[in-house]
Amino acid sequence: TRQVLLAARPTGWPRPDDFAVAEAELPEPADGRILVRNVFMSVDPYMRGRMNAGKSYVPPFQVGEPLTGGAIGEVLESKAPGFAPGDLVLHDFGWREHAVLDAAAARKVPRIPGVSPSAYLGVLGMPGLTAYVGLLDIAGMKEGDVVFVSAAAGAVGSLAGQLARLKGASRVIGSVGSDEKVAHVTGELGFDAAFNYRRGPVRDLLKEAAPDGIDVYFDNVGADHLEAAIAALRPYGRVAMCGAIAVYNATEPPPGPRNLVQAIGKRLTLRGFIVSDHYDRFPAFLDEVGPLVRDGKIVHRETVAEGLDQAPEAFLAMLRGENIGKMIVRL
Ligand code: NDP
Repeated sequence: TRQVLLAARPTGWPRPDDFAVAEAELPEPADGRILVRNVFMSVDPYMRGRMNAGKSYVPPFQVGEPLTGGAIGEVLESKAPGFAPGDLVLHDFGWREHAVLDAAAARKVPRIPGVSPSAYLGVLGMPGLTAYVGLLDIAGMKEGDVVFVSAAAGAVGSLAGQLARLKGASRVIGSVGSDEKVAHVTGELGFDAAFNYRRGPVRDLLKEAAPDGIDVYFDNVGADHLEAAIAALRPYGRVAMCGAIAVYNATEPPPGPRNLVQAIGKRLTLRGFIVSDHYDRFPAFLDEVGPLVRDGKIVHRETVAEGLDQAPEAFLAMLRGENIGKMIVRL
C-alpha cells in the first residue's frame, strides 16, 4: 500500500517536497484489529501545527513517519467482533490507502442515502461538531444576536453561519477570501452579508457589513479579523476562539490585537476551545444537524481532490483558500 510521509518540517509555508509518498507493507490484522481500505481522507488546518517540532495540544508528527488524520474507509478484513467486511468506519489513519488498526480506534458509521460518506469528515464530523459547540456552547449564541463568522465558506465557518441563521440570529455576516465565496455564502448559504477581506482593511469592511455592531464573533482567522471584531463587538459580546489560520504559517509570533483593552470596558468574553474536549456533545449534534443535512436545510459543499498523490497539494490548496466547503481527498 502507499502512504504519505512527512519528509521535512516546514518553515513558514509548507512546500511539496516537505512530503513524500512511500510504499509500505501491510501486516496481517491480529486479533482485535481490522484491515481498512480508505475511501476518503481529510486535510485540516490543525495538521500544519503538528508539522512543527514544538508540542501543542496534539503531539507533533515525526519526520520520516506517515502523517495521520481523519479518514473514512471500508473494512476489508476483520479479526474484531462487531466489525465485518463492507462496514464503513471513521478513524484517524488517513494519509494512506490502507490501514490496519485496532477496532477500538474505529467508529462504525451508517451509510446515509443521498449523502456521501465524506460528510463524516466535514459537516457530520469533527468540523461540524466544532461549529456546533463553538457557536452554541462557547459563544452562547442566542436568538436576535448579530453573528460574524470568518473563513465563512470553509468547513467550520459555513456550518457556523448556517446554524446561526437557523437559530434565529438577527444578522449573519461572513468574511471570505474571494468574490466567488462572497456570492456563495450570501447566496446558497443564506448569510445576510459577506465581504472579501482582500478588498480592504477588515475593520472597515466589517463596519460596513455590520453598522450597528456584532454580538458574537466565531473566529477562525485571528490577527486583523480578531482586532476588527473586538472593535465591532457590543457590550457583553462573545468570541469563540476556534482557530487563527492567518498565523499558522507565520515564522514570528504575530502581534496581539492592539485594541484588546476594549474587552474590559465592553465586558467581552473571549473563549478558546478544542473540539476534542466536547465529544459528549456529538450525539446532540448529530441528532440536530443530521436531519438538516439530509433534508437539504443545511448546504454542505466539498472540494474534492483525487488520489493519494494529490493529498499534499490538497492540504496546501486548503491553506491558500482554494476550497469551498470541506477539502477532501478521494482515495
Ligand atoms: P476551512 O475549510 O475553513 O479552510 C481553511 C480556510 O481558511 C481557507 O479556505 C481560506 O479561505 C481561509 N484562510 C486561509 N488563510 C487565511 C488568512 N490568512 N486569512 C483569512 N482566511 C484564511 O478549514 P476548517 O473549516 O477545517 O477550519 C477553519 C478554522 O477552524 C481553522 O482555523 C481551524 O484551525 C479551526 N478549527 C479549530 C478546531 C478546534 O477544536 N478549535 C477544530 C477544527 C478546526 P479564504 O478563501 O476565505 O481565505
